[in-house]
Amino acid sequence: MMWEYLQPVTIRFGEGAAGELKQAAKDLGCSRGLLVSDPFFMKSGLAEKIVEASEGVLTGIYSQVSPNPEVAEVDACAKQIRESEIDFLVALGGGSALDCAKTAGSICFTEDSIRKYHGTGEPMPEKHLPLIAIPTTAGTGSEVTCVAVLSDKELGKKGPIVSNGFYPSIALIDPELTYTLPPYMTASTGIDVLCHALEGFWSKGHQPICDAFALHACRLVFQYLRIACKEPENKEARRKMAEASVIAGLAFTLPKTTSSHACSFPLTNLLHIPHGEACGLTLDYFARINADAQEGRVHGFAKELGFRDMYDMADAIHQLKADIGLRTDLKEFHLTDEQVAELVRISRHPNLYNNPVDITDEMLDEMYQSMR
Ligand code: NAD
Repeated sequence: MMWEYLQPVTIRFGEGAAGELKQAAKDLGCSRGLLVSDPFFMKSGLAEKIVEASEGVLTGIYSQVSPNPEVAEVDACAKQIRESEIDFLVALGGGSALDCAKTAGSICFTEDSIRKYHGTGEPMPEKHLPLIAIPTTAGTGSEVTCVAVLSDKELGKKGPIVSNGFYPSIALIDPELTYTLPPYMTASTGIDVLCHALEGFWSKGHQPICDAFALHACRLVFQYLRIACKEPENKEARRKMAEASVIAGLAFTLPKTTSSHACSFPLTNLLHIPHGEACGLTLDYFARINADAQEGRVHGFAKELGFRDMYDMADAIHQLKADIGLRTDLKEFHLTDEQVAELVRISRHPNLYNNPVDITDEMLDEMYQSMR
């Protein structure tokens, strides 16, 4: 089997890394930037602090990004870029702000709506603005991936777009920015890290370098996520979760995610479960389905982490979710038969075909029925 490894993002990691913004812009030869962020950071004052610290390098803000960013937000951000004389973007926030900046920075040289590229298979334009990504969740790993995930409420769809132009030029990963994440968001974004690592590992597109990253990231999540949820300002736990997040990003960006991410799209779209929690909801279920796949490779991963086998690790994932206050079922939604059928139908997303075991509609139905 041939494999290829590519990682073009410069990663600067550590407490205070966000303060390196002006230098990072200089390193890129850029002098006029637009900050892309969300309303929380306008209110918290962090967006303003970042603009001030840039000493005139950031000349504007687009701050209307919402969780699971909408195609209309990307179009509005691209419009603002076209109307300003800027030569780079800075994204400050969770995966949503980062993904909005990635996509807006790629369509801004055209008059296109991002809809032209969302779920259509149309390749993204190659020309794009350089991006400095400053993640505030640990998290999506979007700061090192070539993926951007968008929602289109009007067409009822959420899904990824992939483009090499989406790789940020520089990621400034500052664990201190995650201290304000409340326990629930810490838990939800943290379980996303585990999904990225495990799904990247068992993906049909797996490869040895990403395998090593996956193992490291999973180990850190089991060791530090509970602590980060209980003690938001625990420096070590926050640093290690930020490390796990970026490394899990490296673990999945090339192999791509699989079944749990496929199922997360309808769980978020139809039931409004936040992204990370939606991914984590099905992770232990698929860990059991995939346990015997790839000739012992999946069990081997669990054993490396000190579990008896992947079934034992699936139990530990379930327990971790319960301990950090995440849903382990869908009982509270009182799902109708029609809703279950809809979940099954929309879970048939391209990521599902990356799963090492073929997932049938019957398997999906059985899973959702067991969660009712
Ligand atoms: P998010 O960006 O959607 O943010 C969720 C909420 O948390 C927002 O209200 C935000 O303001 C708040 N928040 C963020 N950081 C905070 C902080 N430090 N303190 C307090 N509040 C904070 O959350 P996310 O989970 O990072 O991103 C989810 C999005 O990223 C989804 O759309 C998902 O599909 C996508 N995603 C992208 C990739 C990728 O590679 N591009 C990977 C995984 C997920």
